[in-house]
Amino acid sequence: MMWPVKHAVSVSLNTQLRVYQFGEDAAALDLARKDGVRSLLGLIVLLEKHRPDEDGLCERCATDDRPVWR
Ligand SMILES: [Zn+2]
Repeated sequence: MMWPVKHAVSVSLNTQLRVYQFGEDAAALDLARKDGVRSLLGLIVLLEKHRPDEDGLCERCATDDRPVWR
């Protein structure tokens, strides 16, 4: 079972990908300035929270009881 937030994000990202790849230029530009910006900000936050140490391990993933997507 996919968690609701993960499912919603997955649908949004897949929709964005299809529009960027196959949509008309105006639609891709409009979507990039709205959902595309939010998606990139989410990715930036995710990467900031999951930084590998010198051994390549993420301390947050090793110690956090709650998975990110719940
Ligand atoms: Zn992590």
